[in-house]
Amino acid sequence: MKKNGKRVAVHNLGCKVNSYEAELMLRDLEARGYEIVPFEETADVYIVNTCTVTQIADKKSRQMLHRARRRNPDALVVAAGCYVETGEHAIEEDGSVDLAITNREKPFIAGIVETYLETGEIRKPVMTDEQENDRTCFSGQILTSCSTERAFIRIQDGCDQFCSYCVIPYARGRARSRDRDEILREVHALTESGVREIVISGIHLSSYGQLAPQRFNSRALTDLLGRIAEIDGVKRIRLGSLEPRLIDAETARELGRLCDPAEGGKLCPHFHLSLQSGCDETLRRMNRHYTAAEYAAGAALLREAIDRPALTTDVITGFPGETEEEFEQTRRFLGELALYEIHVFPYSVRKGTVAATLPGQNPRSVKEARSAVLLALTAAQARAYRESFLGQEAEVLWEEEEEITGRRVLTGHTRRYIKAAVPAGSRRPGDITAVKLSGFLTDEVMTATAEQ
Ligand code: SF4
Repeated sequence: MKKNGKRVAVHNLGCKVNSYEAELMLRDLEARGYEIVPFEETADVYIVNTCTVTQIADKKSRQMLHRARRRNPDALVVAAGCYVETGEHAIEEDGSVDLAITNREKPFIAGIVETYLETGEIRKPVMTDEQENDRTCFSGQILTSCSTERAFIRIQDGCDQFCSYCVIPYARGRARSRDRDEILREVHALTESGVREIVISGIHLSSYGQLAPQRFNSRALTDLLGRIAEIDGVKRIRLGSLEPRLIDAETARELGRLCDPAEGGKLCPHFHLSLQSGCDETLRRMNRHYTAAEYAAGAALLREAIDRPALTTDVITGFPGETEEEFEQTRRFLGELALYEIHVFPYSVRKGTVAATLPGQNPRSVKEARSAVLLALTAAQARAYRESFLGQEAEVLWEEEEEITGRRVLTGHTRRYIKAAVPAGSRRPGDITAVKLSGFLTDEVMTATAEQ
């Protein structure tokens, strides 16, 4: 590939959709002859693929933009994505940023950057009305090269749920699904470039193929998974976050069938069901459309259909009006449910959301104290979940070399997303091998030995 002598570094923040879009931006820039370098190195162009899901995400987005400017004061610094979209940040007034790119402009980023470097002018594509309304990024683009063994594929964008604390529906627009054949073509192209595991992602994945807002269509999703599984090069399929309401008896059975190794099932038994709170009153204020009991019923159905599925979740602590008693309900609920992992987020006020105007905003100390309680709970539950596989066989997709507790190891994940390690050099990244989970390197990483 002909190099153009320019070095570009991309830093990604936020969700899986953003990771996917960052990957596509990188490939596009690489195809135009840019050398891709780590963000810590001096580059001619820095792109920060921003996120605005919490105030912390906003802060990190700003920090990375400032860091890029400090690293090379002469570089072109580009802010892309959701932090630019919400319109409340006046990004162009931030002295670090030369160019602001919205989500729907991301497919054109390489051309915009090139024009700017050559002429100093900001020239953006003129959108048709349809493109203007459809904020989907990269729709119709096929990723033809990818060096990693795992790739994210976005099958859906936008969200109609309007949870009271979230700005995403404003930043990403209404829920839209991508064409099934186009997705399948993209998966084909990914496998041809060596990808073994496909991670199905979206802003609100459960809206894929929905019949109307709030009328989910789990068949559309499971049919798509079935079609992806038919592609030879696909060795594993992993699902991003799912809506608890999607899991009824039929869907759980169908997911179980897609996971069943005896039937050649390629779907990983790993399901992320967003909970946010285990208290019905808090869920109502959050505008989540389910109760804690409905959530527990969905988890039980998956556990009936699949052996020890890895169930993971997100929980917000200190939501406006959350009392000690309400938090205690969440803690008790999670204690009984014993999920694999809980991702804990202290509530963060977002301007322009309903939750920002609710009475009973909790102080930071309360949010942090409640987060600490749930973090201790999830550490113990995750350890117990991993221990249940001690001495058992598991299949690991080996991913990258790293140093853990002073030892050089190759790490990867089992189908249930348990991180495992072998001595570096004993396997190659990209290999999928059967191993025995023999012990613990740390609380979070299990050691693996060759299966006899
Ligand atoms: S489901 Fe709720 S939290 Fe998730 S993107 Fe949609 S509005 Fe935001």
